[in-house]
Amino acid sequence: MNPSYLYHAFGVRHQECTKTEYKGNQNIHYIQTRKENLSCPECKSRKIIRSGSIYRDIRSVPVGHRETILRMKVQRIECKSCGCIRQEDIHFVTGKRSYTNKFFF
Ligand SMILES: [Zn+2]
Repeated sequence: MNPSYLYHAFGVRHQECTKTEYKGNQNIHYIQTRKENLSCPECKSRKIIRSGSIYRDIRSVPVGHRETILRMKVQRIECKSCGCIRQEDIHFVTGKRSYTNKFFF
């Protein structure tokens, strides 16, 4: 999916969509942060290595009658500058909510 559509439809800026599945009444977009947009969540250093990831489902605005799920590959980051190991921040979700911010606009 093209990045400008991701941004305008779902408020997603730094991620790329690797594939889309259409299941039942759901459109599932697999997204992950582009490598050049990854940095340490603590000190913002780019001297990081990726050490694993989990998938997290985030509901977004429906398209027509279909639910939209952003299946985000959340990457674990090990920082070479400050030594922290943390999951990356997801800029379009506030805290532990599983909706995109855009959902509430
Ligand atoms: Zn750091």
